[in-house]
Amino acid sequence: MTDTTPTTNPPADESPEAKAAFYQQLQQFVGLEIGPPVPAPDEVNLPMVRHLVEALGDENPIYTDPEAAARSVHGGLVAPPTMLQAWVMTGIKGPARDGDGPYHRMNELLFSRGFTSVVATNSEQTYYRYLRPGDRLTMRTVIDSISEEKTTALGTGHFVTTRQDYFDADGELVGSMLFRIIRFRPRAKPAPRPPRPAPATTHDNSWWFDALGEGRLLIQRCAACGRLRHPPGPMCPACHSLEWTSVAAAGTGTVHSFVVTHFPQVPSFDYPLPIVLVELTESESGNPIRMVMNTADTERDALTIGAPVHIEIRPAGDGTYLPFAIVDTPVPPSGATA
Ligand code: ZN
Repeated sequence: MTDTTPTTNPPADESPEAKAAFYQQLQQFVGLEIGPPVPAPDEVNLPMVRHLVEALGDENPIYTDPEAAARSVHGGLVAPPTMLQAWVMTGIKGPARDGDGPYHRMNELLFSRGFTSVVATNSEQTYYRYLRPGDRLTMRTVIDSISEEKTTALGTGHFVTTRQDYFDADGELVGSMLFRIIRFRPRAKPAPRPPRPAPATTHDNSWWFDALGEGRLLIQRCAACGRLRHPPGPMCPACHSLEWTSVAAAGTGTVHSFVVTHFPQVPSFDYPLPIVLVELTESESGNPIRMVMNTADTERDALTIGAPVHIEIRPAGDGTYLPFAIVDTPVPPSGATA
């Protein structure tokens, strides 16, 4: 959230004609490119893929096992499609600057009518082909669309959608990402705390969230070979069966990893915000079952790798229920002597 630019607020003319004229002014920026093309710092490479799939617990061999990948429909190693953005991320330097370019000028225009606040709303990625180790990407960003004035719970403003197109060394378009923000005029009164963003549910995982709403923490189980898996997906990574069932989790595990986020801050949460990767008791040899969740009722110091946790399903706003890890802090032995 930024509220740093001084503006006239509210603007002088709020007539429909003034709004329509302003919308037309904004449209001049649609289709313009933001900044120079951004070259990926590294080519698509196995070490980065390995780090990601290990953290996610994704054991699909097409990502890390050259021989298995060679036998697959891909004929060789490929990168997880969802890593698209990661290949061009510029790290702590931040994105390339637009300078006095169209994005800057569009923002100046929005600021001039008091649309000084910004919140990211959603992102969509499209993949045109699998990336392979050795691919070297370049990203170009354009202003894809700017909406008419809309009023949301946050305030009144315009949705601005940018599109990042990713090209390979031959100039072939391999993927795109739409990234949408709203530039809005903050309400005079502080908005009530917004609800926690809803989980990103799909055809393949909504059953898992629905079960949480009924108080059940489930683990997907292959109906053919019996292998457990999480997060939910359509196909067994071991035997490729599409048939599946589920089993109830005991609701216990250990802290496999965790991060404590400080920034950027989303107003739905308290900070610092710990996020935990829990390894469930149901983990099998060579097949860890891990779930990402928030913690509750846990002292920050108790959050250590390997700490035992139990999991409670709690309301998370807007009718959503989510699992929360609670670290079972060991009680010091009462007979201890100094
Ligand atoms: Zn299976």
